[in-house]
Amino acid sequence: EPGAVPMLEINDLTVRFGGLVALNKVNITVPAGSVVAVIGPNGSGKSTLFNTITGLVRAGEGSILFQGNEILGLRSDQILKTGIARTFQNIRLFTTLTVAENIMVGLHARLKAGPFSAVFRSPKKLTEEAAGRDWVIEIAKIFGNRLMPRLGQTVVGLSYANRRRVEISRALASKPKLLLLDEPTAGMNTSESLELAEQIKGLHALGLTVLIIEHKLDVVTRIADKVIVLDHGEKLTEGPADEVRKNEQVLEAYLGR
Ligand code: ADP
Ligand code: MG
Repeated sequence: EPGAVPMLEINDLTVRFGGLVALNKVNITVPAGSVVAVIGPNGSGKSTLFNTITGLVRAGEGSILFQGNEILGLRSDQILKTGIARTFQNIRLFTTLTVAENIMVGLHARLKAGPFSAVFRSPKKLTEEAAGRDWVIEIAKIFGNRLMPRLGQTVVGLSYANRRRVEISRALASKPKLLLLDEPTAGMNTSESLELAEQIKGLHALGLTVLIIEHKLDVVTRIADKVIVLDHGEKLTEGPADEVRKNEQVLEAYLGR
């Protein structure tokens, strides 16, 4: 709705690593209930954007408003508690724990001090708790029968695509208002990627706001209300997926100059 407070509003965000300007005065608005995609070549600052939003990088200048409140400078655990969850480009799961236990870590991260509190309890107790919790099942169900039969299996035996699904589940377990997905289809084949796109659309239908870094333009076109293009740390352009795909500068940025 016009005039509504955006879920996320980033103003003039600049992030430097020594002499390198990873993000340069970037402005991004993520309306509540939308799916916004961030695309751009390697090294354009996409993951740095996520790291800054989630407090893993705290060197940012400018402003990041989450539901109207400044979060730039907060610690990552504080930001998680406000209702922002994420996945990582390089999957970060506890491979010796079960699928259910990994999903549980997400909830504990929200409720307790840090992501490790769940891990330091006995795996047996966690397994019992997890099995008893409707919400673990609710979340796993988002992925159809991909995870449901594997809730008690350790992550080490899972396919790459299923590890991605567990990572997303773990993020969802914290019941976020805003979900940040960093290349969730990386390593997935086309049909797996499009299946995930449909599942992300389903989350959107449940009211979740999604900011997604995604290289596969088919996926982007299917799910994104708006696409932001980063290049060398700057916002090159933004707009609907079909317009952005036709943009000469975007093609140039992707093909290299
Ligand atoms: P993308 O995700 O778009 O591929 P990144 O955000 O990972 O790009 O990286 C943007 C630039 O910032 C790159 O040049 C990268 O090497 C640099 N960079 C990212 N994180 C750090 C860091 N923690 N310290 C130093 N340089 C970094
Ligand atoms: Mg990246």
